[in-house]
Amino acid sequence: MKRSILIHPDPRLKKVCAEVPDMSDDLRSLADDMLETMYDAPGIGLAAPQIGILDRMIVLDCAKTDNGEDARPLVMVNPRIVAGSDERNIYEEGCLSIPDQYAEVERPKIVDVEWMDLNGALQRETFDGLWATCVQHEIDHLDGKLFIDHLKPLKRQMITRKMVKLKKELARERG
Ligand code: ZN
Repeated sequence: MKRSILIHPDPRLKKVCAEVPDMSDDLRSLADDMLETMYDAPGIGLAAPQIGILDRMIVLDCAKTDNGEDARPLVMVNPRIVAGSDERNIYEEGCLSIPDQYAEVERPKIVDVEWMDLNGALQRETFDGLWATCVQHEIDHLDGKLFIDHLKPLKRQMITRKMVKLKKELARERG
């Protein structure tokens, strides 16, 4: 089932999310919903707080399916960065909770991530390039942090003002 995505500013997007104690069918069904919502948007990553669920869970798929790569939906429960490269990378980031706004963010180019999969097994993998940026962006969400929090205050305030305006417009449309 597709869920609706919260738009910044929203207090739920600023919360530190809770560790998931163990795997459950509810969590597996939430993962399905998150993937459906992400692909539908369309986006390459989604964190549970973006649909108002304050649990440490993210989904992502950065495969370039336009270039013939196979889709690679990943679901990560309690993900954490265990190591990051000194080498940094700059990507123009966007966010499904901050529609149509993009800005360059600098992050470690390569990261090692540990997480629990949907079978409750511990996984560890090294991510590079867009995958590394995306996984860091999504884990930030679990700590109440948005990509605009990496920007200078002036730029962040400008984007936030645009989002406040957008939310007013959306609320009017919904009557
Ligand atoms: Zn985001």
